[in-house]
Amino acid sequence: MSKVRVRFAPSPTGALHIGGVRTALYNYLFAKKMGGTMILRIEDTDQTRYVEGAEEYIMNSLKWCGFEPDESPEKGGEYAPYRQSERKEMYMQYAQQLVDEGNAYYAFDTSEELEAMRERLKAARVASPQYNAITRMQMKNSLTLPEDEVKEKLTSGEPYVIRLKVPRKEEVRIYDIVRGWVMVHSAVLDDKVLMKSDGMPTYHLANVVDDHLMKITHVIRGEEWLPSAPCHVLLYKYLGWEATMPQFAHLPLLLKPDGNGKLSKRDAEKHGFPIFPLEWVEHNTGATVDGFREKGYLPEAMVNFLALLGWSPGNNTELFSFDELVETFSLDRIGKSGVKFDINKAKWFNEHYLRLKSNAELVEFLKADLDKNLVEYNVSKLPLIVDELKERATFPQDFWTNGSYFFIRPLSYDEKTIQKKWSTAVAEVLGQFETRLDAISDFEAAKIKEVFSATVEESGMNFGAIMQPLRVALTGMSSGSDLMILMEILGKKEVSERIKIALKTIKPVEV
Ligand code: GLU
Repeated sequence: MSKVRVRFAPSPTGALHIGGVRTALYNYLFAKKMGGTMILRIEDTDQTRYVEGAEEYIMNSLKWCGFEPDESPEKGGEYAPYRQSERKEMYMQYAQQLVDEGNAYYAFDTSEELEAMRERLKAARVASPQYNAITRMQMKNSLTLPEDEVKEKLTSGEPYVIRLKVPRKEEVRIYDIVRGWVMVHSAVLDDKVLMKSDGMPTYHLANVVDDHLMKITHVIRGEEWLPSAPCHVLLYKYLGWEATMPQFAHLPLLLKPDGNGKLSKRDAEKHGFPIFPLEWVEHNTGATVDGFREKGYLPEAMVNFLALLGWSPGNNTELFSFDELVETFSLDRIGKSGVKFDINKAKWFNEHYLRLKSNAELVEFLKADLDKNLVEYNVSKLPLIVDELKERATFPQDFWTNGSYFFIRPLSYDEKTIQKKWSTAVAEVLGQFETRLDAISDFEAAKIKEVFSATVEESGMNFGAIMQPLRVALTGMSSGSDLMILMEILGKKEVSERIKIALKTIKPVEV
């Protein structure tokens, strides 16, 4: 078999959707697994949909995920250029070849004429009106017009497109690695435009020509492209490239969290999760949309999560490093059916990868937030704080949001706990505990606990009755870190201050 060459071929029409990241990832994993090459090709032949910054965004997204194509517009390569707009001159000869050999034709219909045809067909109750083997015979093209009229139109510069001449009755067979044989009858296909009137090829022609010229061996792309595959297969056949036609693998759709239909930006918004890998500024409104990166998802978690959205290793293993994915990945373990986008699973992976980080790395996350919030801190305490918080953190920002009480005294106290537990007797025990703090010479968790337990025991109350009020006094909240460790980190003086303030502020409730 020839050396594996795959391509990720996005159109720069906006931010890359997370599904596009998965397509790129699968291409990359397969290429690396097979010792092959992955190409990034920018399919920008539709100038009307071109969006400034989209190409750079695509590159940055892949870089953030931790992989980069071997050949790309940025890197170059043997098959450059990798932007279709820069390859414009290459396509016409193939369209011409198709016309010359009777597999494509010129069409001169204006948009009004095309619209009129659709209206006619609709009135005749044709379910999906299209320009095809039957209708083309009533239209203005080189199959219906006399030869000299066609010549004259071409020389006089009348606008035209080149359309594929789809055979009327033919079974088009496509072998898909994921789905097996897919048969499509040519009667349901339309005569796709291959060259547009602006001299640019359409996606179909450019895609097939480039896959051929760039020696692509496998086309791995989303299922939404499966309906285009019959047209592509016909093109390979008519251009005489059937023998080296790439193998297809169409990836299953990503579905809404409830499994009903394709995942959209709106669903993501509704469920409060991002749909883009990185922050994106909408070009028409100027509004900024956060990506997975901004929301605190780690690239290694996203890669692991996306790898399993459609592919399975064949056992229950879920955690894979990048190298393990490369080693284990295979196209034949990609499933056919759509996969639900379960954001909780992404969070689960995030928690895992967050915990794999060293305390020094986690400290950096916390420091960034502390600096941003202009909070003063003692650097030497930060490793202890992240260590204490990491079991309950999902995102890097959780260290600050869940642990702000390590740095800031409570601004208010949990009302529910007060109502239920803050009696005069409880306040007294807390006061006693406070007076004993000073005598603890070595202020560390175990010692603090001894003194706390002794105080509670002497009072004749039970532990639980005092624990929560103490927590509220120290943090304002009803749950959080281990109290003894919290006190150790806060230090004797601060613990004493906080208890004193709470005793002054909170009015006992008689329970
Ligand atoms: N340009 C297409 C896209 O935007 C590429 C489809 C394909 O991979 O053939 O996704």
